[in-house]
Amino acid sequence: MKYDCDIIQDLLPLYQDKICSGKSRAIVEEHISGCTVCRKMAEQMGDNTVEEKLTWEKNNVIHKHQTLVNRKTTTIGMAMAGILMIPVLVCLICNLAIGHALDWFFIVLTAMLLVASLIVVPFIAVTKRLMWVIVTATASLILLLLTCCIYTRGTWFFVASSGSILGISVFFAPFVIVPLSRETKLERHRAALTVLWDTIWLYLLLTTCGMYIHGDKRYWYLAMTISTYIVVLVWIYVLVIDYGKRNGQIKAGILVALSGIWLGVANDVLNFFLAPVGAADGHGLGGLDLGRGFSVDDITVLNANLLFVIIVVSVCVGGMMVCHGIVKEKMEHESEK
Ligand SMILES: [Zn+2]
Repeated sequence: MKYDCDIIQDLLPLYQDKICSGKSRAIVEEHISGCTVCRKMAEQMGDNTVEEKLTWEKNNVIHKHQTLVNRKTTTIGMAMAGILMIPVLVCLICNLAIGHALDWFFIVLTAMLLVASLIVVPFIAVTKRLMWVIVTATASLILLLLTCCIYTRGTWFFVASSGSILGISVFFAPFVIVPLSRETKLERHRAALTVLWDTIWLYLLLTTCGMYIHGDKRYWYLAMTISTYIVVLVWIYVLVIDYGKRNGQIKAGILVALSGIWLGVANDVLNFFLAPVGAADGHGLGGLDLGRGFSVDDITVLNANLLFVIIVVSVCVGGMMVCHGIVKEKMEHESEK
């Protein structure tokens, strides 16, 4: 060693702040490349000196700015909520003056709640804005349906609300479930949770519809069998994609083949289950006759032949994807060794 550790350590702060001369710099670098004690010291200094201070200051400024912006948007939100209260108050007075009781006032009130959830909540919610807008808008829509239903003495509330929630969920459930699952450490299962939520509301809608029209045995058989046949395929997708341990191509290949088979035999499977209530239509693979080709003379034969082609094509395409995926997996496995 050309220089003493003490001299180098005196130079270190200057070196870290990059204000020492080129000559000193070269000396320090040469020394710390050979001396572990001084190198460690230099690294520690690099970790928590100027840079750390700067980061801390930067975060502090951002935080203060954020708080200020939040306060401003909350004020705007409150002002809008105040403006929305005007029609509510006017209607309250009118309803009391004309009817001497409150009835249609509640429809105005819940309608204004829906408006507020769409334009006031985005300003007031500090975090997860989109999630809060979706939750509050859905809740106020359901309240609006309830008040309308009561006002018109209808019995359609459960059908309308479960249908609305299912419709909203298909598009917006992920925006609520993803942030929630992140917080509850269930992020790994966010897709399954979303599909579970949709599944529950689909069956609730089918049930409420059945009750609303006083459905007979035939309704329940048809609604439940057809829906379940589709729901099961959706669940297989979720399980294979999210929990399958093979690579993407193998999973995609399996799903392509399976979807083709699922579609191809759909009529036959449904006919099997629907036969007891006489709802079977007989347009499945039962009429398969490739010798008669694809003329439209006999719709049953045409249908069966087309379904057969779909099955063959999807199994071939899916099978090729699976084979390619397996080869790729093996190659990756070997290159790892
Ligand atoms: Zn040293």
